[in-house]
This record gives sequence, C-alpha cells and structure tokens, in this order.
Amino acid sequence: LRRNAGEPEFHQAAREVFESLGRVIARHPQYTQGSVLERICEPERQIIFRVPWTDDAGRVQINRGFRVEFNSALGPYKGGLRFHPTVTLGTVKFLGFEQIFKNALTGMPIGGGKGGSDFDPKGRSDAEIMRFCQSFMTELYRHIGEHTDVPAGDIGVGGREIGYLFGQYKRITNRYESGVLTGKGIGWGGSLVRTEAAGYGTVFFAEQMLATRGSGFDGARVLVSGSGNVALNAIEKARQLGGVVFACSDSSGVVYDRNGLDLDVLREVKETRRGRLADYAMLRGAASEYRAGGNIWSIAAETRIDVALPCATQNELDGDDAALLIENGVSAVAEGANMPSTPDAVRAFAETTVLFAPGKAANAGGVATSALEMQQNASRDSWSFEHTEDRLSDIMRGIHERCAETADEYGEPGNYVLGANIAGFSRVADAMLALGVI
Ligand code: NDP
Repeated sequence: LRRNAGEPEFHQAAREVFESLGRVIARHPQYTQGSVLERICEPERQIIFRVPWTDDAGRVQINRGFRVEFNSALGPYKGGLRFHPTVTLGTVKFLGFEQIFKNALTGMPIGGGKGGSDFDPKGRSDAEIMRFCQSFMTELYRHIGEHTDVPAGDIGVGGREIGYLFGQYKRITNRYESGVLTGKGIGWGGSLVRTEAAGYGTVFFAEQMLATRGSGFDGARVLVSGSGNVALNAIEKARQLGGVVFACSDSSGVVYDRNGLDLDVLREVKETRRGRLADYAMLRGAASEYRAGGNIWSIAAETRIDVALPCATQNELDGDDAALLIENGVSAVAEGANMPSTPDAVRAFAETTVLFAPGKAANAGGVATSALEMQQNASRDSWSFEHTEDRLSDIMRGIHERCAETADEYGEPGNYVLGANIAGFSRVADAMLALGVI
C-alpha cells in the first residue's frame, strides 16, 4: 500500500484479482516461484509526461500524459488511452492491471498497458482537440510501435482522436505504420466492427450467460448505463437480439423511455451533434423523461428489468444499487465498463443466483477486435463486417467457455469472477515463468 500510495482504484483492482488466486496457488505452487505475484503488480515501465498545448484563446494549457506499460509476457502492451479530467496515475494503473488479465483471456498474443491524460475534451473545439492530440503524441511516439506498445481508444478517445494521434505519429516518424494504433478509421487502416466491438461483445457474453439458464435477449428488458461508444453499441446489439432497452445515462443524468430507447435519435444526439442526453428527451417528447442527476439502477424498482449492463465508468454501481437490482428480480449483469461495480456490489451479486460477468471478461471484445485489426494491418488485408463480427462472436463464446470451465474446475460453477481471474492469471503467469526473471 505504501509503495502505491494514493492509488485506491489500483488497490481495488489488485485486491479483486488476488482474492481469487488463493485456490490456484494451493493447486499450482509453481506460481509462488520467481515472485510472480509481486512482479505482476509492478508495471514494467511507467511514463509520465507534460502535454503543453494552446487553446483557441491563445493561452498555453498544460496537461499530464501517462502510459503504463504493465506486462508484455504475452505480446506487445495493448490497451486504450483515456482523456478525462479525473485521470491520475492510479486510474491508469488500475486499467492497465485489468488489461493484463483481460488480454490473456482473449487467448490472443497481446500484453497489457493503458494510458491517457487529465485533459477534459468536453466543450473543446475540434482544433483544440487536434492540437492536444498532436502534443500528446509528440512525446508518446517514442514509446510505442507495432511490436512494442499499441494504444487504442477509451473514455474521451474515439475515431476523431485516434485520427489526430495517428496523423502526428506518421508525421514525426515518416512511417505509415498502421499497426501502431487501433481504432483507426475504415479508410486508413481500421477494422470494421472495432467501433462496435466492446458493446456488441458485452451483449454476446451476456447472451452466453443467459443461455446457461435457457433464456436470452428476446423480450428481455434492459438497462444500459452511459451513452458513449460501449453503451450505444450494447444498446444496438441488445435490440438486434430482441431486447428492449429502457434507459441510458451520462454524467449529468438519466433518460428513461417507456417505449424503449430510439437508437437513431440517441445516435443523432450523441454522435452527430456531440450533444447531451437532455436533448434526447426534448426530441422524443412525452414518452421519454430526462432525470437530471438521476440514478439509472433505481428504474428497476419502477419497471421489471431482466438485464443490467453498466457501460459508463468505474464504481458507478454500488452495494445499494446491487441490492435494488437483486430485490427487483434482475437475472444478469454484464460489465461493459471497466470495474463499474464496487466491491460491495460484486459481493452482493456473488451471494445470489444473479449471473454476473466482470468487465475483464464481458468487455474483452473491444481489445480482441483491436487484435483482429492488428492482424489485418500485418497482412494488409481488410475483412468484411460479417466475417469480423463472426470472429468477435466466436471469441466471446471462447472467453465465456474459459471462464465457466475454470469456475467449474475450482468448484464454483457460475462464478465468472473467479473463472476470469484464474484463467487470465494462469496464462500470464505461465508465460512469465517461462521467460525467466525479467
Ligand atoms: P465514452 O467516452 O465513449 O463514453 C463514456 C460514457 O460514460 C459517457 O456517457 C460518459 O458521460 C459516461 N461517464 C464517463 N465518466 C463518467 C463519470 N465519472 N460518471 C458518470 N458517467 C461517466 O467511453 P467508452 O464508451 O469507450 O468507455 C466506457 C467504459 O467502457 C469505460 O470504463 C472504458 O474503460 C470501458 N471500455 C471501453 C472500450 C472501448 O473500446 N472503447 C473497451 C473496453 C472497455 P459524459 O459524456 O457525461 O462524460
């Protein structure tokens, strides 16, 4: 704790993984050799840098940039960049730590890393976003590469930002190195389905869990928190599979639509206008209601909800919210965001029969499709939407199987937290042991 002072989210993520590992270590004592447990908690490299840029009024602004290259036992560091005012080193370390096990679970050759900045993109002009991205990459470029470290998007970093970052990388290095970033646009090295992958994958994982109880999304009543990339695509896939999504949220409030959310209106507001959810309610009229500062999970007390998909940010669903979902008969919760459920919430779900998928398993479709983008870049190929979506669906089925079988093997059928932590850890730890003390 002293060594990583002031990093509560990193402590939370590490504790959650370590709580699952007692059993695997009792069965496989080799994991206590070579200080694997201590080594896995220490990033291989952490880079913190100044990001100076000039705003539209001509003032020089200073932000802090981070890249934590956590573990490369399985492949190049891989993980997104987050631009949000709350980003600290501890946030990036928690996300990077989660990423190690998530990436291992995909079965693909990718290590774990994460990065970002405390830059707040809200309210910034397009030109300001571009200048910030260019300055950020002016330092980051020397640390990344197709075989070294491959960043992608996360909160506040979507296709527009990846474009500006890639443009600056190309300009500085004079190399069209497509494999250095993922989440690129379709016209310049991106992969179809990458934008949709984390949200679609979360729904595919939930579908697999529901199938173990003989049910599915057809007719399911759903809540999805957030209204960014992961949330919108989770809403889209849940609807395609026959579900009805009643509400979503942003950091200012909740939209509850009694007829089910209209995804076209939602996309128009969030993606075309880059507006706020309050605008959705104004466009939709009487059936929909905007609740400023509202709690999305409380809607489960007003109308029957079967599936909850937290897709906004960490610690957004607490013990009280979990109790409310359980009390009102929710049958499955799949985390589209990283660590959205607090430890109290995870414990509450574990004490019931609610199917609960942790983010490192449920949202792994995002990074898995990034690895598919890297494959296409390496072979200078581009796959169709259907082919890539089929690959994503197979990968999510594989991750579900790996988690479920591991949970069975350790005597806790249906415990996806245990299954994900043990299956992810074992793959990384085996590689770390094979590579020696490095
Ligand atoms: P976006 O920036 O596209 O959307 C984030 C959404 O979450 C917005 O609706 C935002 O609302 C809301 N949000 C962010 N911070 C807060 C906060 N502190 N309190 C309440 N709401 C908040 O990000 P993504 O959709 O890409 O990411 C969402 C989650 O999914 C994150 O946990 C991310 O790490 C995870 N993830 C993302 C992947 C990807 O490929 N993009 C892959 C796997 C996981 P507002 O607009 O008001 O800020």
